[in-house]
Amino acid sequence: MPYPHLLAPLTLGPLTLRNRAVMGSMHTGLEERGDWARVAAFYAERAAGGAGLIVTGGMAPNAEGGVFPGAAGLFTPADSANHRTVTDAVHAAGGAIAMQILHAGRYAYGKDCVAPSALRSPISPFAPRELDEAGIETQIADMVTAALRARDAGYDGVEVMGSEGYFLNQFLARRTNRRTDRWGGDYANRMRLPVEVVGRIRAALGPDFLLIYRISLIDLVPDGSTWDEVATLARAVQAAGADVLNTGIGWHEARVPTIATSVPRAAFAHLTGRLRGEVTVPVIASNRINTPEVAERLLAEGMADLVSMARPFLADSHFVAKAASGRAAEIAPCIACNQACLDHTFSGKVASCLVNPRAGHELELTYPPAAHPKRIAVVGGGPAGLTAAAIAAERGHAVTLFEASEALGGQLRLAARIPGKEEFGPLIDWFVTRLAVAGVTVRLSTRADAAALDGFDEVVMATGVTPRLPEVEGREHALTYAEALSGAPVGEQVAIIGAGGIGFDVAEYLTHQGESPTLNPALWRREWGVGDPAETAGGLAEPAPAPPARKVWLLQRKAEKPGRGLGKTTGWIHRASLAAKGVEMLGGVTYRAITAGGLVIERGGAVETLAVDTVILCAGQEPDRALADSFGRPCHIIGGADVAAELDARRAIDQAARLAARL
Ligand code: NAP
Ligand code: SF4
Repeated sequence: MPYPHLLAPLTLGPLTLRNRAVMGSMHTGLEERGDWARVAAFYAERAAGGAGLIVTGGMAPNAEGGVFPGAAGLFTPADSANHRTVTDAVHAAGGAIAMQILHAGRYAYGKDCVAPSALRSPISPFAPRELDEAGIETQIADMVTAALRARDAGYDGVEVMGSEGYFLNQFLARRTNRRTDRWGGDYANRMRLPVEVVGRIRAALGPDFLLIYRISLIDLVPDGSTWDEVATLARAVQAAGADVLNTGIGWHEARVPTIATSVPRAAFAHLTGRLRGEVTVPVIASNRINTPEVAERLLAEGMADLVSMARPFLADSHFVAKAASGRAAEIAPCIACNQACLDHTFSGKVASCLVNPRAGHELELTYPPAAHPKRIAVVGGGPAGLTAAAIAAERGHAVTLFEASEALGGQLRLAARIPGKEEFGPLIDWFVTRLAVAGVTVRLSTRADAAALDGFDEVVMATGVTPRLPEVEGREHALTYAEALSGAPVGEQVAIIGAGGIGFDVAEYLTHQGESPTLNPALWRREWGVGDPAETAGGLAEPAPAPPARKVWLLQRKAEKPGRGLGKTTGWIHRASLAAKGVEMLGGVTYRAITAGGLVIERGGAVETLAVDTVILCAGQEPDRALADSFGRPCHIIGGADVAAELDARRAIDQAARLAARL
């Protein structure tokens, strides 16, 4: 059997799971829309795909504990009926599901938020109200009620969210708990709340209901918990009735990335391994586990009893089923980009997935067998073309994909060269496998022309983009980003024109030297100042980034700070990473000329010359529609060839999938 550890059943308290793969908690954004049929379809598809246990997105136990005003919860009996549709659907699909109880405390985005002490979080505009004794009792009672309602609604268990800097975590750490009553002060007092919550839920529910506690292993904030405290809490929570400990890494206000694509795979699993030695209940590893190989290794090495994967189950609902049937290469990989999941959530949109646009749209976006199979040509092997070709072929069409270069991937191939974006490599590999399995005829090194496209019933133009060449004197002396990333020689002092996603990527590429920290966890921890909670409270160390390979200026015309348009949940990481490499980011720049002396710019009315030896153009892109414009027959234009502005792989793949679903 492949993946014998991952696929082994495990009994957790009253429940026997069919395997060790837990779908971790993720907010979908569907519950608040009242779209419970979609919630049920979303989870049922993951249950059908083999997830051993599903943990729902966090549900508020009361209004003040919601992550934002109106956040979904289980406040009333009417809510229970909605949740029942979800649990019924998951059970019908053969799965098990636990509801996460999430009290956000001072992270609740609203003026009614409550906390152990009246200390505002650096990531929230709202100062919390300090709870009195009666207020604390109310919060506990509401969490117990939520657990009882979860059982009534058919859930197999609950997960009590105690990590990520939320309410219970706020009581644990001196950073946020300045109380002097029996809920603050020494650690026995600070851990009283989470232990009480677990104990009272267990007392209310009896032994026959799964109870998971999610514990923060390393807070990554000053005055966070020490390892002694983490271990003490773990034992106390176990004694209070938890069946299993899930793990969390870092508070939301931490300035260390914990789930982004540049975080090494399984970067924090060693701490789960350490926790496993402190308790007798099973423990769950989490964060940046995205393949069955990584999951299997952690389990085989004894780092954990189960693995939690949240985003990977968005990318592929059938992660486990494919792993179990020897089709691991067909699992759509989560590249940890956050672009369609967390970035959507934080913009108030429904969570989906860049790689799998069906995630969260299971009822509306389907790929049924084609009623009338056709001959379809797809021109261009970037993300849009790859997606359209694969889905059309999977639906039964006869598809030929033309790619002018010698390899598939398009702009994804450039992304894969950036240190910290290595996950784009496996993404291309997955597309290649998918095309082969679907039976797409791939013509590499073939520039399609109108004659080659003769005889096809449908033609899909996914010809992508060309770099925009801004009007600046001496432009011929500059490199395009594609040239720079393809290995053209670059000097010691570099100016980058354009500070969008690609400008940032090129700056990252040019300032790094040697091994990518993403592929070397020890190096990555040094770069970001991740220490050991056994040595410093919260586990922070002094960051020690490697020196930059060269001096880089990153420029834009807009007067605002560069990087504001980057991903909502990841932009700060790119800004911090480049700042650590001494990259100078300038806004409000007018480009005058590229000369032998460097780049002449005007800023704030003053003209100056940046004494650089290389200028790189990252000034956005133009659609490449040359073939479509001269084609003379109706065709479908998708991806960057359609709209280059705001182009990213998310939009390209989504557009391609929706077209291929209707062909
Ligand atoms: P972009 O995000 O549109 O940025 C283009 C940059 O060039 C801007 O800084 C813009 O700033 C500047 N610019 C535009 N026209 C110019 C002109 N005529 N002369 C000089 N400067 C000009 O485009 P991109 O960086 O090429 O990225 C393309 C797409 O790929 C983006 O949508 C991005 O989301 C996606 N991408 C995403 C990631 C990611 O990590 N998610 C990474 C890479 C790329 P000013 O107009 O202020 O000068
Ligand atoms: Fe993973 Fe990106 Fe999909 Fe989110 S959008 S699940 S991070 S691939």
